[in-house]
Amino acid sequence: MASAQPNPIVHPPTELCPSCSTDLAGRFCHQCGEKKFHQHDLAVKHFLQHALDEFTHLDSKVFATLRYLFSRPGYLTLEYTSGRKSKYMKPLSLFLLAVALMFLADSIHPRSVYNITFLNQNDKAGTLDTAWNKLAAKKHMPKQLLLYRFDGFKPVKFAQAPVGRWSQGIAFSRDGSTILVQNMLEKDIQVFRLHGTTLTDTGQRIKLSGGGAAMRTAKY
Ligand SMILES: [Zn+2]
Repeated sequence: MASAQPNPIVHPPTELCPSCSTDLAGRFCHQCGEKKFHQHDLAVKHFLQHALDEFTHLDSKVFATLRYLFSRPGYLTLEYTSGRKSKYMKPLSLFLLAVALMFLADSIHPRSVYNITFLNQNDKAGTLDTAWNKLAAKKHMPKQLLLYRFDGFKPVKFAQAPVGRWSQGIAFSRDGSTILVQNMLEKDIQVFRLHGTTLTDTGQRIKLSGGGAAMRTAKY
C-alpha cells in the first residue's frame, strides 16, 4: 500500500548574476544592477549598438541636466531629494564636467574669472579699483611701502612711499639701500632707494611677463 507522496515543489533552474552571484529574477540583477549575460553580448554588432547607446544616453542625460540647471534652478535638487536620479547626471559627474568645460574654455580663450590681470585691464569703470581700495582701507593696508625700525621692542614707522596694487614680495639689497617691491597687477618690480630715513621711488620699473608673487634676496 503506497502512501501518497507530497508533490515536490519544483523551482525553475535559477541563473546567477555574473557579478555578485545573486539569483537573477529579470534582465538585471536587483542586487548590483548587472545585466543578465547573453552570448550575443559578445558580438561586434552588439558592442557597436551598445557604444552608440552609451553616447546617446549620456548626451540625453547631459542635456536634460544642463537644461534644468539653467531653466529651473532648484528643480534638480528637488528631483534628487525625491529619489529621481537616473534621468540626470550624478552631481559629482556634473561638477567634474563643469570643471573640465571651464578649463577647456580657458585653454582655448584664456579669459577666466581667475585672471586678475584680465579683469583689471577691462575694468573701465574702476569697480575693481574701488573694491580694492575699500578692502585695503578695511584691513588698514594702505597701498604704501611702510618701513619700520625697532625702538627696543616697539616698531616705529620711519618712512613710506606709494606702491602698486596687490603688491606681493619684497627684497632688500644687502646694505639696505635698494628695496624691490613686486606689484601683481602692474606686473612689475618697483625700485626704491633708501638714504638714511629718506625713501624715494626711483621711478624704475622692471617689467615681468606675469604677476609676480614671492620674491627674495639671493643668499650668496
Ligand atoms: Zn548582481
